[in-house]
Amino acid sequence: MPESAARQGLVVALQANYGWVELDQSGPEGCRRLLCTRRTRLAKSGQIICVGDRVRVEGIDWIAGRGAVAAVEPRSVLLARPPVANVSLVVVVVALAEPALDPLQLSRFLLTAEATGQAVLLVLAKADLLPEAAVAAWLERVAAWGYRAVPVSTRTGRGLDALRERLSRPGLAVISGPSGVGKSSLLNALKPDLDLRVASVSGRLQRGRHTTRHVELFALAPGALVADSPGFNRPELPGDPARLARLFPEVRRALERAECRFSNCLHRGEPGCAVGCDWERHGWYAEWVGDLRERAARADAPGVSQGPGEASLRRRGDRLEPRLDQQWRQPSRRSQRQQAWREGRDDQDGGQP
Ligand code: GDP
Ligand code: ZN
Repeated sequence: MPESAARQGLVVALQANYGWVELDQSGPEGCRRLLCTRRTRLAKSGQIICVGDRVRVEGIDWIAGRGAVAAVEPRSVLLARPPVANVSLVVVVVALAEPALDPLQLSRFLLTAEATGQAVLLVLAKADLLPEAAVAAWLERVAAWGYRAVPVSTRTGRGLDALRERLSRPGLAVISGPSGVGKSSLLNALKPDLDLRVASVSGRLQRGRHTTRHVELFALAPGALVADSPGFNRPELPGDPARLARLFPEVRRALERAECRFSNCLHRGEPGCAVGCDWERHGWYAEWVGDLRERAARADAPGVSQGPGEASLRRRGDRLEPRLDQQWRQPSRRSQRQQAWREGRDDQDGGQP
């Protein structure tokens, strides 16, 4: 079988020991999506492959629609729960009602999203449940925090076009937020027809869909992808007080205009602070900084382990990135086949799809 030249593409789904790769450019007969294994070389190097990874595919068999992933490009960011690489937008969804919008919880989700270092979009769901004046009041409130939120309703269709438009820009978006706020309903409303989905699967692989928890990406426009399962259900704050401040748009905005007198200023009313205290979330900010400092002091004491916030994020370059959670590193039996694909073990039952 003649092998054609290597192609670049994006991993849009992982299935048992295989991955679906959407090529940047179609091959012969318009073939765009390939079912790929991993080159042994890659497997031996311990390279993990995640949905969202940009990869080089070799050994392409256009007729069978198969290939082998030979290399993974460096990631800009890697999110855990669900594991998605190269996310460029985190969409935080909260409901305006049912459950009632809790501004403190919303802030935690926003900070977790900001901690990725990527763009953050706030969506206020179930807009049909509140009178217009109340919706407007929330929009104004979060605008003061630095977020231009999109009010949506899957019941009335409000805001869906605006959201679709925003998510149709090139990049990879993941949706996060508490449960029950309407994330799944929103994803379903946004998803194109099943036929058009990036990684529609068939035959033997179809069965795997129901037994293996996994992420798939769907495309709203060329190069505009959305992860189909929500992430960050448990927001966790970063562990470093100086970094925490930068996760507040209010602080970033203030520091763009002026500098604090002391370079290690914690913006809690210190003399010559450029951030000041007259912003709504300052109280929470000050409280969280206090918690982090206490936790850090405790962690310095012998025999005390790190707090959960610090354990859940690690520094990568100059950004924080969630650690892969324990479950991910020590997979359950159920996820072992999928894990085997990522780790390149060939001892699992992969079979031929
Ligand atoms: P998830 O847990 O965030 O994925 O939330 P779901 O999508 O499962 O929705 C939770 C509940 O909210 C369901 O009973 C939905 O029918 C309801 N729901 C979703 N979207 C809307 C909406 O726009 N308006 C109203 N009134 N209810 C909604
Ligand atoms: Zn300051």
